[in-house]
Amino acid sequence: MRSSSKFADLAQTLEAVRGTRSKNQKVDAFAAYLSKLDADDAEEAARMAVGTSSERGSKDEVQVGYSTVFTVLKGITGASSDDVSKTYLKYGDLGEVAEELLRAKRERPLFEEPLTIAGVSDSFGRLRSAKGKGSGATREALVKSLLLRATPLEGKYIVKVMTREMRTGLVSGMMEGAIAAAFGSSKEETAKAHMLLGDVGLLAKAASRKQLGSVRMEPFRPVNFMLAEPLASAEEVASHFGEAAYAEYKYDGVRAQVHKKGDEVRVYSRRLEDISAFFPEVTRGAAGSAYDFILDGEIVPYSGGKPLPFQLLQRRLRRMVNFSEAAKNAPVEYFAFDLLYEGDREVVELTLRERRKLLDQVRAGTTLRTAESSTVEGAGEISKLFRKSRDLGYEGLVLKSPGSQYTMGKRGSAWVKMKEELDTIDAVIVAAEYGHGKRAGVISDYTFAVRDGDELKTIGKAYSGLTDAEIDEMTARMKEITVHDYGYTRKVKPEVVIEVAFDSIQRSDRHDSGYALRFPRIKRIRADKSVGQADTIEKVEKTFAGQRLKVDRASG
Ligand code: AMP
Repeated sequence: MRSSSKFADLAQTLEAVRGTRSKNQKVDAFAAYLSKLDADDAEEAARMAVGTSSERGSKDEVQVGYSTVFTVLKGITGASSDDVSKTYLKYGDLGEVAEELLRAKRERPLFEEPLTIAGVSDSFGRLRSAKGKGSGATREALVKSLLLRATPLEGKYIVKVMTREMRTGLVSGMMEGAIAAAFGSSKEETAKAHMLLGDVGLLAKAASRKQLGSVRMEPFRPVNFMLAEPLASAEEVASHFGEAAYAEYKYDGVRAQVHKKGDEVRVYSRRLEDISAFFPEVTRGAAGSAYDFILDGEIVPYSGGKPLPFQLLQRRLRRMVNFSEAAKNAPVEYFAFDLLYEGDREVVELTLRERRKLLDQVRAGTTLRTAESSTVEGAGEISKLFRKSRDLGYEGLVLKSPGSQYTMGKRGSAWVKMKEELDTIDAVIVAAEYGHGKRAGVISDYTFAVRDGDELKTIGKAYSGLTDAEIDEMTARMKEITVHDYGYTRKVKPEVVIEVAFDSIQRSDRHDSGYALRFPRIKRIRADKSVGQADTIEKVEKTFAGQRLKVDRASG
């Protein structure tokens, strides 16, 4: 293995970084440490310091579960399960638990050579590739051999990287500053290279080698997406642009970059994760182009010329197995709306007008689609197209300035989005009943409520938005949590939170909140939220007041 600096120095530096609240001191401490490393160590150390061990955008990430760490710690320190849980309750941080328990290490390592950055990084690499059947034991052995050799402080930071819970306050933007300071590169140059590399490790390595100036955009290195600013009305959008703008439908799917080089194609999510495996039809569909490229666009559940509900896609993302089945039940299309790289060059600095022309050119030979785009000017045209987008089942419009550049990772004013929904409300289901007609055998109508202090106040009833499979799941769930069955309706234990979209809020005596949502539709089941996190009556009142204001402004 190459010669490499001691891991202990990294651990001590991170401890110092964590120990100060001053951002400048954090940056200075890490810069001083980095400046002493060679390029390879700088790459690994910078990455570990932000709590990861693999390149951003790569498919593999070390994911060692709490239970593996607990088992290993018990094994090498002799601590009981009880000791481990108590220590965990004391700190709430697994790294600190490791540090404390390792002070009482019982087993001694076979050899006492100090851990190095390269050595630890090599073990992380092996942890990443230990996958599938029987890998549990391999992973446990790898974690054990690392922690056996580690001092308590080293153990703390090894565990923090493995569990991806660094918590030193040295976030990626500050790391950029530390790298610039360590290797004497300018802020602008470092920021531009960071944007293109998207990874602090590669950035540190290039800075250390004085190669930031030659960093270029390249396929298979995802970059941050350009974002849109929200505007509420056609009038606002028209005066924002003040001239003709491109209008595209707002597709409700998953934002994705498609990268192609030679025969290879990969797809990256908004979080810059490689999601190619989920969408074989997109990778296959892109392969036919004669060009290398990086596209920006949206993967949309779509069939027979129409968008399908977003939920279909969510289910597909959850289900890794059986793609052909998934592709049949949730067919998707990729709608490209921008081009970042073509042939062998970055094109983000060209105007959108020019990029769209090139996009048509590189798309030839693929089965990918391009987002429908038309030129609009003035509130009347915008509002007409907006209506059309809603009628066709899209979320609204995204409007773009034809002369603008592609600004990575920025919510610039060159793109604006317009959605009809005023807002959504996270509400709790408090009662449910069987549906009618096609829905007669399933519990598909839900009365929902918002929080008012300790109480729940109803605000509407919804019966649309869920897929058949979701309704089946809900039927079972509603039966389980029924508190009282009145025959036609049933009161349920308030524990299911749903996100409800609506057109407007009205005053109403029908519900005990005093308000009713107009045209409510369920956007999704918020399994991630508990009742205590549902929205409150205050939010409803505020939205109601805001909506009055907007109406007044539009009519005045
Ligand atoms: P939102 O998620 O509501 O903030 O809206 C922004 C998102 O709209 C983007 O991140 C894209 O995923 C999505 N989107 C859909 N259609 C387009 C389009 N034609 N241009 C840009 N973004 C779009």
